[in-house]
Amino acid sequence: MLPVEGPVVRGGGVLVQDGVIVAVGRERNLPPCDDVPVTDLGDAILIPGLVDAHCHLEWALMGGLVPDAPFGQWLGSFLHRTADVTAVDRAAAARWAALAALRCGTTTLADSGPGGFGVEAAGKAGLRAIVHMEIFGRETGTAAREKVTRHGEALLRMRDEAGPLVRVGVSPHSPYTVGPEIWSEVLGDPILGAGSIAAHVAESPDEVMLLDDQIGYLVDAIRSVGREPAHWPGGGPGVVSRLAAAGALVPGLIAAHCVQVGEEDAVLLAEHGVRVAHCPHSNARLECGDAPVELLQMLGIPVGLGTDSPASAGQYDLRDEARWAAEGVARRGTTPVAADMLALATIGSARVIGMDREIGSLLPGKRADIVAIRPFDGAPLEADPSLAVLDPRSRVIASWVDGKQVLGHEGPTRLDARAITAAATEARERIV
Ligand SMILES: [Zn+2]
Repeated sequence: MLPVEGPVVRGGGVLVQDGVIVAVGRERNLPPCDDVPVTDLGDAILIPGLVDAHCHLEWALMGGLVPDAPFGQWLGSFLHRTADVTAVDRAAAARWAALAALRCGTTTLADSGPGGFGVEAAGKAGLRAIVHMEIFGRETGTAAREKVTRHGEALLRMRDEAGPLVRVGVSPHSPYTVGPEIWSEVLGDPILGAGSIAAHVAESPDEVMLLDDQIGYLVDAIRSVGREPAHWPGGGPGVVSRLAAAGALVPGLIAAHCVQVGEEDAVLLAEHGVRVAHCPHSNARLECGDAPVELLQMLGIPVGLGTDSPASAGQYDLRDEARWAAEGVARRGTTPVAADMLALATIGSARVIGMDREIGSLLPGKRADIVAIRPFDGAPLEADPSLAVLDPRSRVIASWVDGKQVLGHEGPTRLDARAITAAATEARERIV
């Protein structure tokens, strides 16, 4: 067992009561539990459920449809390719994405999307989630206030529909699609400002060029769909200092990517209590650069992992994302440590989304979100069990959220995987 916070426990077990971890340790040392059903997982490795700090469930069916290119050009293709995707197809995509994430050992995810379809998708799968409804626009004054108020009302309706493990939040999409007035109305709104807030921040060189000089492919991409990029006149140069100058960085903000971040920017992020969702696969595919993960961590900024979406990255597989993160560590000149990569995808992400008191490690008192991994034959269990966990040859065989099994030998326990896949296949055919 890899509790992530705490040493490896060989022959370990977890005692769960009412969805809470009561005890963790060697099986023979656990308190007597004669009246409790016991699940023997053989040689499986137990880890905390994986936590996705940034993903887009609604774009699950865009894999292979938007060619890899530097970010500005990619976004142009993405905007055109997704313009006509219907709500029905985005809902089908979200359900399929939740199924994919579940199969990959994810038990909690932080979703961002324009439609909020993650609420139903994650809820039905039995996943824990924060679903951030995206807001866009450059309105000012009364128009900005009214738009944000309507967004808050929509969020309350979503909250009413959400199951007990699903929370809702807001995502001002990015500094290039959201102006400072809308952003500040979001932060000041009694509903939106009080909940979880996520945004894409300092993702690409194109974003920097757009904010600093209003030039580049990203400007062209946004204008090509009849919109205008946002202006952030204060601060600068760079994205983070402009956001800071406008009061847009707030404690707990989940900032996805944070690649174009220098030392002064990193200090600003730390001072403002911002947390970072690192998305190395997407960053590599869109030639965004290398996020300065070690610098962020050195400054005490919580860093976790996000899978983004198949439009720019993989299929909601956090173990794969951890391998991309390890490659980045090596590229930056340090030897990657598998246990650190696993920590990014569990307790790291839990800190980023503000849920580390509840989840992210196997400790007494935390919610029982647990994943069992069957190691491949010959896995280095003695030398490095974390490496065995992250190896693609090892398989996720079971998972529990809040003490309830959501994935087992037969597949998902709450979902009709065949029906979800059939609906997603039909949706994909309409999108292609
Ligand atoms: Zn994203």
